[in-house]
Amino acid sequence: MPYIIGYPRIGEKRELKFALEGYWSGNLDRKGLEEVGRQLRQRHWQSQEEAQAQYISINDFSYYDQMLDMVTILGCEPEEYRDLTGLERYFAMARGDKRHKALPMTKWFNTNYHYFVPQLRHGQPFAPNATPILALFREFQERVEGAKGKVNLIGPFTFLALSRRVDGGDPLELLPAIVPAYRQLLQELQRAGVNAIQLEEPIFVLDPNPTILGSIQEVYQEIVPAGLETFLITYFERANEAVEQLVKTPIDGIGLDLVHGPGNLDAIEEIAKHGKRVVAGIVDGRNVWISDIDKKVALLRSLPIDPDQLLVAPSSSLLHVPYTLRHEHKLHPAIKSWLAFAREKLDELRLIDRLYRGEELDPEDVQLYEANRSANERRQSSTMIHHEATKERLQGEIKRERDLPAQERLRLQHERLGYPILPTTTIGSFPQTPEVRRVRKAYREGKIDKSQYEERIRAFIDQAIQVQEEVGLDILVHGEFERNDMVEYFGQFLEGVALSEHGWVQSYGSRCVKPPLIFGDVHRPEPMTLEWILYAQSKTDKPLKGMLTGPVTMLNWSFVRDDLSWEEIATQMALAIGDEVADLQDSGIAIIQVDEAAFKEGYPLRQEHRKEYERIAVESFKIATARAKPQTQIHTHMCYSDFNDIMEAIDAMDADVISIETARNGNRILEAFRNYNYQKEVGVGVYDIHSPRIPSQEEMEAEIVKRLEVFPASKLWINPDCGLKTRRWEEVIPALTNMVAATKSIRSRIVQL
Ligand code: GLN
Ligand code: ZN
Repeated sequence: MPYIIGYPRIGEKRELKFALEGYWSGNLDRKGLEEVGRQLRQRHWQSQEEAQAQYISINDFSYYDQMLDMVTILGCEPEEYRDLTGLERYFAMARGDKRHKALPMTKWFNTNYHYFVPQLRHGQPFAPNATPILALFREFQERVEGAKGKVNLIGPFTFLALSRRVDGGDPLELLPAIVPAYRQLLQELQRAGVNAIQLEEPIFVLDPNPTILGSIQEVYQEIVPAGLETFLITYFERANEAVEQLVKTPIDGIGLDLVHGPGNLDAIEEIAKHGKRVVAGIVDGRNVWISDIDKKVALLRSLPIDPDQLLVAPSSSLLHVPYTLRHEHKLHPAIKSWLAFAREKLDELRLIDRLYRGEELDPEDVQLYEANRSANERRQSSTMIHHEATKERLQGEIKRERDLPAQERLRLQHERLGYPILPTTTIGSFPQTPEVRRVRKAYREGKIDKSQYEERIRAFIDQAIQVQEEVGLDILVHGEFERNDMVEYFGQFLEGVALSEHGWVQSYGSRCVKPPLIFGDVHRPEPMTLEWILYAQSKTDKPLKGMLTGPVTMLNWSFVRDDLSWEEIATQMALAIGDEVADLQDSGIAIIQVDEAAFKEGYPLRQEHRKEYERIAVESFKIATARAKPQTQIHTHMCYSDFNDIMEAIDAMDADVISIETARNGNRILEAFRNYNYQKEVGVGVYDIHSPRIPSQEEMEAEIVKRLEVFPASKLWINPDCGLKTRRWEEVIPALTNMVAATKSIRSRIVQL
């Protein structure tokens, strides 16, 4: 029976999200929240029992984040939260309150899930507390009969390596202090009757770290008590170097991701030889397509290991996929038949497990098996997936380069656009007010018709243009009021892309995303943004910047089909976005921004794959923008805090202007551009849009002066850090007014010099 690494927790209908938001706003009391948590756990255990899963997780539930839970379990909350206790303290760390700042959050490996970065210090005390886990264990025991439960914990290496030392030291130096805490925790769990533990160590899949590798044996020798069945689970990549050490420790089984880390196949024999079990991550835990059951079974059979030593598993926790197809009523039935969300994956795992072991199938499984085979067959030939014209286009001549070198292009653009030194602009979106959302919702639900909807959106655009003119910005935008999301919006228009109704995946806390499903050849039957952008341009004499999402971001924030190479899919997407670029340009739009917010987060976890990703990512951006004439100015925007190791790729993208986030980081990011001797134009953020605070003119002047210390005025643009969609007009108008005033004041000083 299959081993389940972890199950989603937000709820099939996002029940946890709504309960949390109710609790935070005071509409639900603590008891009510805890009851929702309990019901969700029960339901998730039940789903896994129904699917006859084994090794069900006892601690995969969380009110916010599993790393934050570990901070509580290990008793290493930062001092400043010590005045609070329990759930109050937990949410203060997660969200901040009047007296506390929230802990920083960042992305969990290369997923779209965010975890809290524990803040540790030299001499950090750890005070392990097993009570909350034991409560869950009892709840599990009362509810689930037969199936084995295991307690999920993040392992000591991953916990420390993902932490930050506030005193600047290396968090791994705290290993000697954290080891006794883990040992005590595991002993306590064992004494209370827990008989299996899952320690997650995804850190082992990164490029080898000598400190980590050198300590694995000793640490695991220390923390694993005899007689407690212990699984060490890795995921998202191969973990070969760590496996060499792990086989010499007392752990019982090692989890390997065989989908995203095929190199792991080489580790299996070694694990088997040492008499340990392999948790074989064979069904993709991060993507949504059905498995080819026959292929999976054949792969398992080919492994050099006794079936008794192998447990069939998903490649990672199922946290990263939506719950179930059961509530999807609008998806085309064919597309639906090619999909497997978490609940459907449980069935796949059972089927694979039975076939692998040569067990007899019951009628229900026979049916599943047949459905799987025929869906896979139809997927190979369906005209919904395979679009001949797109395939031919990929074979034909593709324009991959702009016509002139950047320096000459920029000269022509300056002639055409005539913008002043230190031009001012924004990143694209303006406040998504409740009114804006209401209008989109009313249209979606058929309460207003298309012409009424368009009229309302045009009114929002009118307002945005008027504000931008009054504020005195140089390059205007239309405001993105028609977009719920920068990826999903484009997904609606593209052939080969489908949207689910309930395919939510937790991003952080109560926040979820609903990634589009790229199921087939992507092409763009008709313009996606043209009308709105042209309308906006018709309302102003200033240049209007058209807004698109780039191909890499489209792919990185979607579920991408697994039956075609990433390169081909990216190229198709690039051609589709490129069609929009061409249409905008042909209609007279002189500036087009192609956002690549997710360019960096798509980087592979291991160095060995980075060059290839970079090549395809850069090529795709270039294909999307190569048809822009030299006089058409291409912008891109990325919101990261670290460009140092990707400067070459940024330069190779060959955008005329790139806007970056610098308000919170001072000159640090811009220095990467200076050190690289970057020759194109750079828009620097001088206004932190993440905070409701309105920066003063003086403050932004100081920011601009600071930027001018590292970059010439002739190449700098001035803008906010990112889009303004989460802000209110009451914040945006004065902030932009101050930004423009600050820029003008600096300009006059530069001209005087
Ligand atoms: N153009 C988008 C906006 O302004 C960019 C969003 C982003 O970078 N995440 O909202
Ligand atoms: Zn941004």
